[in-house]
Amino acid sequence: MRRFPVPVFCLNLFLACLFATSATAQKKPIEIVADLSEAPRKVYHAEVDLPVSGGPLTLTTPQWIPGNHRPTGPVSDITGVVFTIDGKPIEWRRDDVNFYEFHVNIPEGATTLHAHLDCIVTARLSQKMAVLEWEKLLLYPAHTPVRDIPIQPSLKVPAGWGVGTALQPEGAGGWPVPAAGSTTRFAATNVEQLEDSPIITGQNFHEFALAPTITPKHYIDVVSDEPEDSNLRPSVLAELGNLVREADAEYASHHYNVYHFLLTLSDVAGGEGLEHGQSSDNGVGEKGFADDAHQLGESDLLSHEFTHSWNGKYRRPVGLYQPDFATVQQGALLWVYEGMTHYLGNVLAARSGLKSQAQYRDMLAMSAADLDYKPGRDWRPTEDTAVAASVLRGGNPAWSNWRRGQDYYQEGELLWLDADTLIRTKTNNKKSLDDFERIFLAKGGNTGPLIVTYTFDELVQDLNQVMPYDWAGFLHDRIDKIHMRADLAGIEQGGYKLVYKDKPSKSERTLAGVSGRRGGGGLECWYSLGLRIGADGAIFDVRWNGPADKARLAPGQKVLAVNGQIFSSDALKQAIRDAKGNTQAIRLIVQADTWVSDAEIDYHEGERYPMLERVEGTPAYLDDISKPLTTPEKAPVPDKKDADSDQ
Ligand SMILES: [Zn+2]
Repeated sequence: MRRFPVPVFCLNLFLACLFATSATAQKKPIEIVADLSEAPRKVYHAEVDLPVSGGPLTLTTPQWIPGNHRPTGPVSDITGVVFTIDGKPIEWRRDDVNFYEFHVNIPEGATTLHAHLDCIVTARLSQKMAVLEWEKLLLYPAHTPVRDIPIQPSLKVPAGWGVGTALQPEGAGGWPVPAAGSTTRFAATNVEQLEDSPIITGQNFHEFALAPTITPKHYIDVVSDEPEDSNLRPSVLAELGNLVREADAEYASHHYNVYHFLLTLSDVAGGEGLEHGQSSDNGVGEKGFADDAHQLGESDLLSHEFTHSWNGKYRRPVGLYQPDFATVQQGALLWVYEGMTHYLGNVLAARSGLKSQAQYRDMLAMSAADLDYKPGRDWRPTEDTAVAASVLRGGNPAWSNWRRGQDYYQEGELLWLDADTLIRTKTNNKKSLDDFERIFLAKGGNTGPLIVTYTFDELVQDLNQVMPYDWAGFLHDRIDKIHMRADLAGIEQGGYKLVYKDKPSKSERTLAGVSGRRGGGGLECWYSLGLRIGADGAIFDVRWNGPADKARLAPGQKVLAVNGQIFSSDALKQAIRDAKGNTQAIRLIVQADTWVSDAEIDYHEGERYPMLERVEGTPAYLDDISKPLTTPEKAPVPDKKDADSDQ
């Protein structure tokens, strides 16, 4: 049993130590009532009472949302704003430069300003459920550290809807949040913590306690569009219990008073994965965890967002922490914040059984191959994908392989695997990155929600505590420098090599078979022809300098015919097979806008799909890394996915 909470905390270890508990708790809090009773009509309402005194006042809504790494504050959707004092309207004016700010003049003697506002919400809700990320309704004094602004939240939801959140229900015994047709009040907190404490609510609601032997308490709250989906399978619950225990063993600390995985299952509400200190907002399709095939596509989502409670929320790169939600966040260290989380999230998913070790290897192969065949790495170092993160998120797939995307996730995974296997190799497997995590993420012992910032130099110091090495050189080389090839050293030190076979791995076939993935059932021919193509022949992307690029194909075109036949994925696959080992080009008819033309792809190496192949006689550190650290509390349920890859 872990002691909780451990108040001992060594301040001088850190560059900044920002207790979430507010020194200004005596100040009168803002009171906010979030009204989600009209969520099915895509509008949320808020009534906000702000303590004020006479004179000019600037209020603001959040701009830079933590975890989004870009300015996604919902100011354009905030509407119906009315300020009143004692029922009398007060005029307001938007700031001419910062459009998130509202200026009002408070008459002398007034003590409370009332604000009404609505927010138009078009994502993360359906007729049966809704998600509230509080930034949609927050209004608070500008130019003040948000952790110093006390706030008392309340919530209204449609009658009969259950509520999942890490917010502490006021005066109640804890969770689940009592079912209420009226208003639920939560314990007072501060604006920084409230923004970090989302709510899911829905007609079909289940809350499950996880890993009861671990302190503090962990829950998963689930809402779904269809009644049967929120009642998660026993195997999934057992694996999530394993995940909690594996994280406890890996990180040797926690930085929350309670943890709630919040999960929405809906085909209309859209996907999400957003970390918070004491919870995570996870959105997948209606059947995302209904069977093993769907689960594989989501297998690292919960472990990734959970890991962020330590790496990203507790330990935050100094440039990514701002005392308000208005200052620009700087992403230079996102290859730690996201990249290391991507690595650990996949490792923990394998250790907890959310995917098998074979599936872990198959998916690592797919990710490594994607990076190794990314021509944009010839001009753009990984660090630049992090620095420019806020302009790279989303974006059109056209030529994205030449532009690069938020590659610091996948590059970070290979980098930290390289570091892990390097430590294991040099210490004969006596030490590993696990030891680093227990230093870097557990400093200060157990805490409540807390943000402790770090710099590159601290990272290097902590790595040196595990194993003296030129870690600064190691990291700079992989992050700042141009490398034409991906960092495959971790896979090789782990006892495997990346190879290409003429049929996809079992995991790749499973993922391709799940509806809605991979461009609607198109053919994977990225490592052969250099095309990302849908089942209808639409070209999403063309690999820069690849065979299709040399044939002058371009994103946005559509392949109408292959070797004299109407286009289909099977016809294209057959054409790749027929051209193998000879000199006959693959003949296409291609539509570009309203024009049609011929194209010939000169490619003869057959189908190519990435896979990891064991190098016999070398230490299999990759297998050690993906093995559980703990004994599962329950025996694995025998519906599982030990269906290994084809090797
Ligand atoms: Zn993340």
